[in-house]
Amino acid sequence: MTSRDNTFDEILARLQVSEGYDLARTGEASESRLIGLDSNENYFADAALIRKMAGKASRCDLRVYPREEMIELREKLGAWLQIEPECVVLANGEDQVIDLAATVLLREGSAISISPTYSMYRLRLELIGGRLIQVPLMKDFSLDVPRLLSVADESHAPIMFLCSPNNPTANQFSEASIVQVLSRYRGLVVLDEAYAEFAERSLVSLVREYSNLAVIRTFSKAFGIAGARLGYVIANPQLSKILAEKAQLPYPISRFTARLGIECLRNLKAMQDSVHKMKRERSWVIDRLRRIEGLRVFDSETNFVFVCTGQNSSKISAKLRSLGVSVRDFGNVLDFRGCLRVTVGTRLMSEKLLGALEEVMRDEQL
Ligand code: PMP
Repeated sequence: MTSRDNTFDEILARLQVSEGYDLARTGEASESRLIGLDSNENYFADAALIRKMAGKASRCDLRVYPREEMIELREKLGAWLQIEPECVVLANGEDQVIDLAATVLLREGSAISISPTYSMYRLRLELIGGRLIQVPLMKDFSLDVPRLLSVADESHAPIMFLCSPNNPTANQFSEASIVQVLSRYRGLVVLDEAYAEFAERSLVSLVREYSNLAVIRTFSKAFGIAGARLGYVIANPQLSKILAEKAQLPYPISRFTARLGIECLRNLKAMQDSVHKMKRERSWVIDRLRRIEGLRVFDSETNFVFVCTGQNSSKISAKLRSLGVSVRDFGNVLDFRGCLRVTVGTRLMSEKLLGALEEVMRDEQL
């Protein structure tokens, strides 16, 4: 065996022990009847309209690379978000932007984030030998700005990932706290707004004022086309030019996906209607969850709800799964014991969840 083989063996060994993302559901036949409340998919998006838009989007010549539709999609996104199209960079889902930030901008260094938050920042960084320094949120889930800034000063980490509204705590951070970070931190703040359409506000317009801000967003949540994989970055023209022309793949999305994104933006009202419906159902499900003894249910500005069971949540989620409902287990979070994250589903799905959770919580308390 040559030394080269050894090197590759080492690479394989390292990848083998690395922590992959837990898909929650793998799509096997035995799982197809599971109610999937684990991935924050949007069950309120109009499936018939999406099918119609997809049909229209597919009517294109797939022999050629996506060119003009990428330009048109950037223009349409710019018009919707009231930002120059040059500030928009398209990506194959938001996860791919996180990967770009980790692999291209950061490489092997350290980045800063909060805890708890979306696991992908840490996973993608660790995969390439980097490290994520995580600063715990305050007890009310707000940002600990002084601590974030002091960790930034000590570590010289060039990138900070902030997720607002935050996954899994479901709250949006105050604009003032993010502005405080932006004005004091010398590195790049990557602000993950995957769930912003479900919340009160977006901070996209701040990219004009703060050159150290990149907002990353997705069509997977409010627009409900997670299966198509479409995400984007909004950043100042200098950074977005570097990202688009140097860091990003030349054709990161398909012609079909770009055309579907354009269709979604032509039907903004459908998205707004589905967000409205989800919010109504979210209030209902939060109210019902709060009636279950032993649960602490937090307010939500997303399409999921964060719940503290006070019990062993891995056992609870396994029992829920055996009753046909899949949710995300987060274990102990800050001072809260046994936390779960549940997607807001249709009324039928929520009724199944509530019935199962009531049964499991009753058993746990015996
Ligand atoms: N950011 C957050 C906070 C998310 O929850 C998710 C989806 N789970 C993503 C990014 C990824 O979105 P996409 O489907 O566009 O890759």
